[in-house]
Amino acid sequence: MPKLILVPTPIGNLKDITYRAVEVLGACDFVICEDTRVSGRLLQHYNIQKKLVSFNVVNEHKLVDKMVKDILHAETVCFVSDAGTPAISDPGFLLVRACIELNIDVECLPGATAFVPALVVSGFPMHSFIFEGFLPHKKGKQTAIKALIGEERTVIFYESPHRLINTLNMMAELLEPGRRVCVARELSKMFEEIKRGTAAEVLAHFTAKEVKGEIVLIVAPNE
Ligand code: SAM
Repeated sequence: MPKLILVPTPIGNLKDITYRAVEVLGACDFVICEDTRVSGRLLQHYNIQKKLVSFNVVNEHKLVDKMVKDILHAETVCFVSDAGTPAISDPGFLLVRACIELNIDVECLPGATAFVPALVVSGFPMHSFIFEGFLPHKKGKQTAIKALIGEERTVIFYESPHRLINTLNMMAELLEPGRRVCVARELSKMFEEIKRGTAAEVLAHFTAKEVKGEIVLIVAPNE
């Protein structure tokens, strides 16, 4: 029976990979990945030599049928993205759905993903939360931020460093005064930073310097 295994990989610190993930990557027939250079470096770090096949946002629609056929002819195929858990704001969904439709076993190993540690360190209620991935670009962004007014769950976004100031500005302007946010930057890396406060306070903090690195932005529930 063929099997597709989604394998989470580190989001910064190379040690954040499980023993099982390394074992499974070492034992599979081949590895489907986003960028063969990124995953090649990771496998090299763990002394794993495997055939790498590229599958990413650019080619996934075109390649999904072929990929499923290749999986059907294999025993175990691993799927990794550049960082974190595949399919979480990354390619993966199309392939998982196509495998399920053909009764191919799909497994996802537990492991690194950016939004979980960010949520936990935010200190905001975590019994109920929503994950929204990246905010829309341009027009839809304002509507998406206005939709947070009155939201009673913690809301998690992925954000890019170039858009953070604009997003915080809009949040400070459009959301309830005093609504709290948390920016979790560069998790598990040397310059990890967690900044909590009102949208205006966090905006002031990041306006004072150049924003760099990878970011999870969390909005507290309306109190
Ligand atoms: N699949 C990944 C996961 O499981 O978290 C997410 C991939 S998505 C393309 C990349 C985004 O995740 C970044 O733009 C950033 O918002 C967030 N991210 C990834 N690594 C991070 C880190 N070390 N610290 C903070 N945010 C991170």
